[in-house]
This record gives sequence, C-alpha cells and structure tokens, in this order.
Amino acid sequence: MTMQAGFADLVLPDLSLRAGGDLLRADRHLADEDPCTGERFADIPVASAADVDAIVGAAKKAFRDPAWRDLPPLARERLLHRLADAMEAELPRLAALESLDTGKPIAITETVDIPAAIAWLRSYAGWPGKLAGRAGTLSASPGRYHVYTRREPVGVVAAITPWNFPIVLAMWKIAPALAAGCTVVLKPAPETPLTALRLAEMAREVGFPAGVLSVVTGDGATGAALARHPDVAKVAFTGSTATGQSILAASVPDLKRVTLELGGKSPSIICADADLSQAIPQAAMGCFFNSGQVCYAGTRLYVHRSVYEQVLEGIAAVGAGQVMGASSDRASLMGPLISARQHEKVTGFTTRARAAGIEAVGPVGGATPQLPGRGHYFAPTLLRDVPPDAEIAREEVFGPVLAATPFDDMEEAIALANDSAYGLAAHVWTRDLATAHLSAERIEAGTVFVNCIMLADPAFPFGGMKMSGIGRENGPEVLDAYLEPKSVVMAL
Ligand code: NAD
Repeated sequence: MTMQAGFADLVLPDLSLRAGGDLLRADRHLADEDPCTGERFADIPVASAADVDAIVGAAKKAFRDPAWRDLPPLARERLLHRLADAMEAELPRLAALESLDTGKPIAITETVDIPAAIAWLRSYAGWPGKLAGRAGTLSASPGRYHVYTRREPVGVVAAITPWNFPIVLAMWKIAPALAAGCTVVLKPAPETPLTALRLAEMAREVGFPAGVLSVVTGDGATGAALARHPDVAKVAFTGSTATGQSILAASVPDLKRVTLELGGKSPSIICADADLSQAIPQAAMGCFFNSGQVCYAGTRLYVHRSVYEQVLEGIAAVGAGQVMGASSDRASLMGPLISARQHEKVTGFTTRARAAGIEAVGPVGGATPQLPGRGHYFAPTLLRDVPPDAEIAREEVFGPVLAATPFDDMEEAIALANDSAYGLAAHVWTRDLATAHLSAERIEAGTVFVNCIMLADPAFPFGGMKMSGIGRENGPEVLDAYLEPKSVVMAL
C-alpha cells in the first residue's frame, strides 16, 4: 500500500462494515486506488447480499425505533446542524479524504466540495419543523367533514452515488431524507468510499441513533442487492443511465419509489451578441471543470458562425492554461480521471472521433509527461466542426472533451441543442433578454443557465428530462420524494 506523499499524515476513517451497532466481517475486499498515482492505498470491504440484508435490517429497526421516529422535529434539526458543525470543524480532513479518493485538487475540495455538502446539510436542517400537511374539507360530499394531510417519511432510503462528487451527491440525498425522518443506507461508488464512511462515523459521534445513517461499501453487485431489497422503500440514485435503468427495473416487484439523476450531453450556445470575455472562459470550464467528470457539463458547444473562430481560439487557450497536478499539490487546478478504466473509455471516444476525420484545436488528451507516476491524466480537448450525428456529439464521455459546431440562426441552435437523448442542463450566452427567455422556454433541459454555469443550489430543483432521469433533487421539491402524503378524513 502506498499513500501519496502529500497525504502521508491523513487518518483514514474506520473502513469496517456495520449493521447498526454490530460489526460485520466481509469476505471480499476491493482496492481503493489514488487516481493521481494508480497506487492502492486501502482495501475496502465488499458487502455481500447477506451483509446488505443485515444493514438494511438495522436501518428498518432504526426507522421504527421511537429514539428516531418520535424525536421532535426541532431535535432532528439540531442533530442535522450538529453534523454540519462537525463537518465544518473537520473540513481540512474531509477535503483531504475526498481529494485522495477522487484525485481532485485539494484547493477545489476545500472550497467547493466540502463547503457545498455542508451548505446542503444546513439548508435541509431547517426543514423538519416545517413539513406540515394542510387542512380542508371534502369538496363533493354532503355533511361536515374535517380533512387534513400528514407528510410521513417513506421509510428506509437507499442512496446510491457515483465517484465524481462523492460527498456532495451523497448529501443531496442524505440531507432531505434525514430531514424527512427517513433512515438512510448510503452506497458510495467503489472508487470513492472515504468521505461516506467518515460521514457515517461523524453521525454516530454527534448522536444520531445507530442505524439512522449507514454506509454499505462494495461494487455494482452490492448496489444491486441494496436496490432490490424488499425493505428499501425508496432508491435515490445518481450515476450512469444504464445503471439507472436496471435500478428502475429492480424497483418493479415492490413498487419502490425511485429518483434517478443520470447522464447528460448538455448543450452550450454562444450567440453572436454574447459577452465573449465571460462566455469563453465559462463555456470552457463548463466542460473542463473536474476533468469533465460532471453530469451537467456543457459538452456540446454551438457557436454563432460570426464568432466561431474567436471562441475556439479562446477556449483552446483556457484548456491549455489548466494546471494539472496531484491532488495534494496546492497549485493544481485539474486532477486526473478517476480510473484507468475511465481513461481508456475517454481515450476511446477521442480516438474514434479522430479516426472519423474530426479535427482538434490543440492537443487531444493523452500523455502528460510532466506528471509523475501512473496517474490517469487527460488534457482538455477541443474538437471542431463536429457533425450532429457523430458519436462524440451524442454519447456522454465523462472526460474533458468539448465538441464544437457552428450555427447560423437561433432556430438552428435550439434544434441542435434539443437533438439529444438527454435533457439535464443547457447554457446560453446572450445579451438579448428575449433570446434568453425564449431559449430557456424552448430548450428541453431540467436547468437552463443563462450567462453562467454550474450553479446548482439547495434552493432550486435539479434533475433531468428525457434520458437524464426521473424526478428532481434539491429545492423544497425533493422533500416529496422522501415523504408520503396521508389524508385523514374525519366526520364531525
Ligand atoms: P455506475 O452507474 O455504474 O455507478 C454508480 C453507482 O451505482 C456506484 O455506486 C455503483 O457501485 C452502483 N451500481 C453499479 N451497478 C449497479 C446496479 N446494477 N444496481 C445498483 N447500483 C449499482 O457508474 P460508473 O460505472 O461509476 O460510471 C460509468 C459512467 O457513468 C461514466 O463513464 C459516466 O458516463 C456515467 N456517470 C454519470 C454520473 C452522473 O453524475 N450522472 C456520475 C458518474 C458516472
């Protein structure tokens, strides 16, 4: 086992599997590898179906236990805030754990990932005392009736998360689920279990009853065992469209509640009248940030022909200016891809695009001789004049690869933007209000950013149309995913 030198003093969380207060012994382990070096630094237990059963059993017991079920809403708020306090106090360690696991620069996890996870937790910590139903009367029956609704927690929630924003995407699920009074079994991606494990440890430390927040580590088979477990009432998933489809299929026998936040191939449209000093760096980072491993990255770029060459030149310069480096290096702004498998997948996309005659502006991913070790680095890549039916314009790559195409009028730009199986997000740069509002109306996407990028927020719903998912996370809207409305009809 080899730890990146910059993280030599980092204390890992307890990696063991737990069902409530009981420790489980896993028969199988997976290597946790540093994406910056390709070296294994820990072995993570792989939970079997029997382990999943024990952990879900403990979560079900905790759900029915008066210690959690009857906790006054204000006490639940206090517990959630206490967890947020603990995260704030431990921000540097959480950031280091996230950087070690994902390869993200420490300067990013300290300022983006961990603060965002805390912000989401604080935002939903304010909800438990405000989850009231409503009162009314029957509209069609004679006599006097009093009717009211209760909003009750759905039960045990399985939160299944990917490796690109491990603690953030886990918190998008955990915070509203716990605020609603559910119990949660979190299944992190096998590549990035560390912050999930530490979070569950911290929840125990600040006083959450055993079994309210558990972590089950393992691979896809572990996730599948969790997703089909009959005592899981709801699955909240972020990840690939293929896995989302299998989770939805597995939900059928028990009619589980399912929300899916899946892939994207989000368009970015730069109009002729856009402020290019903003649009160019934003469109570049809207694709290259986090090495392109962002579900709502703007990976299809449509630029008005009158400014096309200027925009391409600017974006290539932003790409070339990215400082790539190891996650513990404070100068680094861009880390490697998560794994050798992901590097191979992204390389496959660019190799096929080049073989199909698509040209690049500047370098195409590939070798990064200035970086030591066997890290999975992939340089920002800009492909030009990409035909709308090219693979690189249609498939989610999950790497820093931007496919640019010119357009001549807004009708054409919107048609190109909507010509996708996905509908997660979209971006428009324009100074014209009518263009902004009309394109926001006509683009098929869960979120449309005008003159800005990557501003997901706990106050607003986020999720996808078409193949990008089902349901919404964030905003007050997400709470409906964790609450069952119950009508109580009372004759007076
Ligand atoms: P994945 O969908 O396979 O994995 C996501 C999570 O689901 C992990 O925790 C995984 O262990 C679990 N899982 C896998 N199979 C499962 C199953 N049958 N039932 C239940 N859970 C299961 O994603 P990946 O393999 O890590 O990445 C593959 C591709 O997915 C990427 O290349 C990228 O295109 C896409 N992706 C999208 C997002 C996003 O935010 N939308 C995030 C990560 C990856």
